[in-house]
Amino acid sequence: MERTFFTAANLIDGINPPQPNSTVVVEGDRIAAAGRDGSVPKPTPRDTVFDLGGRSLMPGMNQCHFHAGYININSIMDIELKYPPTYLALAAAKNAELLLRSGFTGAVGAGSPHNVDVALRDAIGEGLIQGPRLIACGHDIVTSGGPIDVNPDYWKLGIEGLCRVCDGPDEFRKAIRQEIKQGADIIKMYVTGGHGFEFKADEVPMTFEEIQAATQAAHERNRLVRGHVVSRPAILDCLRARMDLIDHADAMDDECIDLMVKQGTYVTPSLYFSWKTMDFMRKRMSAERLAQEERWLEQGYRSVEKANKAGVKLIIGDDFGTSWMPHGDYAVELEFYVKYAGTSPLDVIRWATHNSAGLFGDQGGSIAAGKLADLLVIDGDPVRDISVLRDRSRLDVIMKGGQFVESRLTPTQASAQAA
Ligand SMILES: [Zn+2]
Repeated sequence: MERTFFTAANLIDGINPPQPNSTVVVEGDRIAAAGRDGSVPKPTPRDTVFDLGGRSLMPGMNQCHFHAGYININSIMDIELKYPPTYLALAAAKNAELLLRSGFTGAVGAGSPHNVDVALRDAIGEGLIQGPRLIACGHDIVTSGGPIDVNPDYWKLGIEGLCRVCDGPDEFRKAIRQEIKQGADIIKMYVTGGHGFEFKADEVPMTFEEIQAATQAAHERNRLVRGHVVSRPAILDCLRARMDLIDHADAMDDECIDLMVKQGTYVTPSLYFSWKTMDFMRKRMSAERLAQEERWLEQGYRSVEKANKAGVKLIIGDDFGTSWMPHGDYAVELEFYVKYAGTSPLDVIRWATHNSAGLFGDQGGSIAAGKLADLLVIDGDPVRDISVLRDRSRLDVIMKGGQFVESRLTPTQASAQAA
């Protein structure tokens, strides 16, 4: 079989510090070899060779809090009511391709209005449209009057496009099973408010028994559960119930962090949204609310630093799709942590790649023999300057499963078979 060689690469494998002058060999949909002279095979005339001349090669990134179907949102009501489901599906397809072309070969849904993720995942999988590997999220689960059950009852509208309103463990179990029937790989629960929501972060409108019933029902069918969780008691409830992925976790302390490390819980801090929202709302928020948001954000920076040091599986993904944070500039999130939370570029690249590999069946997320060939070639070194990842004109190669999504390079040796 014809192979593709990338030589003279500054290899950022998703785990280790950069290794200059490396070679990566792709065969079929997998990486066949990666390393320096002696540890990698030599190309034959049947192979295609790209001399990267010191450009960086790294794994494709994973956006693990993705709302493909959120567009131009100003309030929660907009998510469900602003556009018809057919329009949302078209917009979601466009956003999925944009995400892939921004260097993200994987995505995990974080709530999809009208179940748009499921159709999106299937259309991408069948090659109908271009997009990342998508772990599809179903409707959100919330209790009566919880953070996203916002339409007044006298409107007689319900809120079925966005979420399922459940009370009591039996209703949670049933909702999860119905979501699985409709094709969800992961189901999102709104355990608290906060983190951009007016609903208070320190009120917990969901019981431990409800959370546990949901996680058990998901796990018995090998599906995942994630939750919007901000306050400490709620984080602990979710960890005790074995939730797989915790969104935000602003108030995680040492006890939470210990459990996260022990249980291998994934955490998307998604603090860029908090920062961006505060910046946008500065003139619109009351002084009291602004001070409260500032406190949470400060706490978020400290929690993230601690969790990172302790070895929590922090991952990348944030709430793009609001009017003040539209789809497109996805990699800004990596730069944000480097700039504001003091995270090193190498760590934040690890969050975007290796740390989330387990969510995708451990098949990618690093550059090593046997892994999926989801990779990027970057004209620049993101470990020296993380902002290069935001510049799409510098993503010279985007490869997903051994197929070029983008290629701006000319091979120094074209396969004799192709010629
Ligand atoms: Zn979200």
